[in-house]
Amino acid sequence: MVELSGLPEVSAPLPWQAQDWSQLNQQLANGLLPHALLLAGNQYTGKARLAMALSRLLLCHQPSGGLNCGHCHACQLSASGNHGDFRWLQPEEKSRVIKIDQVRSVVEFTNKTAGLGQRKVVVLAPADSMNVNAANALLKSLEEPAADTYLLLVCHRLHSLPATVRSRCQILKLTVPDAQQCLAWLDQATGEREQSERLLALADGRPLLAEQLFQDDTADALAKLRRALQGLLTGRVSVPEAAALFAAASVEEFLAQLAGELQVLLRRTQDQQLTSRQGRAAFVLWDEVLRLQRAVSAGANPNKQVIVDALLVKFGRELGDGPLGDNIQTLRGDVHA
Ligand SMILES: [Zn+2]
Repeated sequence: MVELSGLPEVSAPLPWQAQDWSQLNQQLANGLLPHALLLAGNQYTGKARLAMALSRLLLCHQPSGGLNCGHCHACQLSASGNHGDFRWLQPEEKSRVIKIDQVRSVVEFTNKTAGLGQRKVVVLAPADSMNVNAANALLKSLEEPAADTYLLLVCHRLHSLPATVRSRCQILKLTVPDAQQCLAWLDQATGEREQSERLLALADGRPLLAEQLFQDDTADALAKLRRALQGLLTGRVSVPEAAALFAAASVEEFLAQLAGELQVLLRRTQDQQLTSRQGRAAFVLWDEVLRLQRAVSAGANPNKQVIVDALLVKFGRELGDGPLGDNIQTLRGDVHA
């Protein structure tokens, strides 16, 4: 959940977004900023923060230096979450999906004129948590947006958005954050480089996840889960033992964890190993995990225990005890500490 009130005076983009940010500013200055913009990229890399910075810039009456000014009436309202021309849609508490009623109310909002006479901004974060009906309800607003209205769609998995939505947006694929920039940024929170490096490695290079691990003090718990998954590959850990560690996690968290592990595994695997039996099995399993993630974000409610057991069995049986397992062992030594 993104905080929508009590914001700092100025909402700035993150350091690794500087280039994308200057491009957006240029488009805005030239009157070329699209009315439907899709911000695509990996989860935990700061897309929602970029959407917030852009929203507040669009609403501000006296932007300065390419950022919202922080002092005008509009900035005060957007900082307190009370700007009448601004809507931020995200799944409601305890829900995983953006519901059709939420989308309908936003469509109605886009049809009204701006109250403060400038622009209206709608953010959907993440847009891939809309189910098909909600996405369909949004199509008309995307197709014929009002002149003063900007729709910003934040999206973790581009291909889980219906093609009808994608094709109506200009897509901005955000760059993968540079590790040095992430570390410098993380240092501000952790105060020490060694800690920042450990967190960023655990988070597979996703800086906002690293920050969250630090703030929630959950890095050790995550490292434990990682070790269990790796132990499955070598037969040191049994499926029930590994499953027990996910007892407190939601289906969503479990799938994200497994997808992350598979992604790291595939990324670090030599080309020739990718075509091996295990390499192919890793792709098949990853595909299955992504399909389940899409189903869950669209509102499906599968039996968690069944999913956890089935996927862990496959993970251990089909990927373990071979070159892929060796990769994980040698390359992820950092989390064995
Ligand atoms: Zn302002």
